Amino acid sequence: MILTQCAVCATDLGLTSGKKCGRCNTRYCGPECQVQHWKEGGHDKLCKLIKKAGGAEQYHANTKYTEAVTVAAEACAEDTKGQTCYICTQAVHWKTKEGLVRMCACRGTAGFAHVSCLAEQAKILFAEAEENNLGEKALTERWQQWDVCSLCEQHYHGVVHCALGWACWKTYVGRPEADRVRSSAMGMLGFGLSDAKHHEVALSVKEANLAMMRRVGAPEYSILVAQNNLASTYQKLGRLEEALNLYRDVYSGWLKLTGEESMETLGATFNYALVLNDLGNYKEVKSLMRRIIPVARRVFGESHEHTLRMRSEYAEALYEDDDATLDDLREAVTTLEDAERTARRVFGGAHPLTTWIERQLQNSRATLAAREAVESIRESVEAMTPGDA
Ligand SMILES: [Zn+2]
Ligand SMILES: [Zn+2]
Ligand SMILES: [Zn+2]
Ligand SMILES: [Zn+2]
Repeated sequence: MILTQCAVCATDLGLTSGKKCGRCNTRYCGPECQVQHWKEGGHDKLCKLIKKAGGAEQYHANTKYTEAVTVAAEACAEDTKGQTCYICTQAVHWKTKEGLVRMCACRGTAGFAHVSCLAEQAKILFAEAEENNLGEKALTERWQQWDVCSLCEQHYHGVVHCALGWACWKTYVGRPEADRVRSSAMGMLGFGLSDAKHHEVALSVKEANLAMMRRVGAPEYSILVAQNNLASTYQKLGRLEEALNLYRDVYSGWLKLTGEESMETLGATFNYALVLNDLGNYKEVKSLMRRIIPVARRVFGESHEHTLRMRSEYAEALYEDDDATLDDLREAVTTLEDAERTARRVFGGAHPLTTWIERQLQNSRATLAAREAVESIRESVEAMTPGDA
């Protein structure tokens, strides 16, 4: 399903065209590429292995997972030196020999783990909820274990998030298309890929997911979530007009489905504003943000990631606008100072949200300082110039 290219020549096959190996489901554009793969591409030996692993899609997921774990452990090597996994208590994983990771908001000696152990834990918790019919709320909560740290309750980020995305996908890829867990797993993979900035791959995963959901007649809210995720990838790839259009659709969808003050509508408005910010339409950003920040404070709370992000984006629009007044610039600085303090307290200094707000704060201070310098020169020039009176 996410393998949409010919295994030999990389021609895009979409979701249905082309030819499949009858044993392992590896996809080709046609018989020529298939024959070549068998004779020269090593498929004569690999085919059995791929079939044994559960088919081309599963094999691909497994391979990508192993690569992603290596990348994640390497990125965390410095940080995890001398530590042990809080799940299996070992430094090196007994079976896979992988190293430790930690990319959440845990501090001190807390939260070091193997990606495999985190994945195993999430898999068991979710299976338990499914087998015992624990209900929708438990299912949702346990599903979150795939990308939220159970100790600090914050999302994993960067390459660790990506490795967990592949872990989740490889766990559920074998389920039937109509099983929503399969689609959720694909969504989880999309998030992880985006977080690790693999935007091109994220795009194909998110497009495949949306197409699959439409095919199986997924409910409207699931489609809206998938569209929202796809729009964010358009945005990351600089395809801003496409992002803006899609976010506009998502916004009207949520508005119809859940009303003006729901978290979903709020999120959609915010995402829409982010693209406007990228396009330099600061006036509209400011007016949108003034409308939704009070709602966000009420719905999410003051120290929630979303509220902090919204306030910081609002501040950015304030200081980036060429027509900003001195008061606007001062408001931007005080807003960011406050947001930075809160982010540091809640998420820690190394969290991407905190470092991003810090950068915004530095920019806003620099803009304010430059403007104040200009103003004071203007004032002294005015003071020196004799009046007409
Ligand atoms: Zn081909
Ligand atoms: Zn094969
Ligand atoms: Zn472990
Ligand atoms: Zn944590």
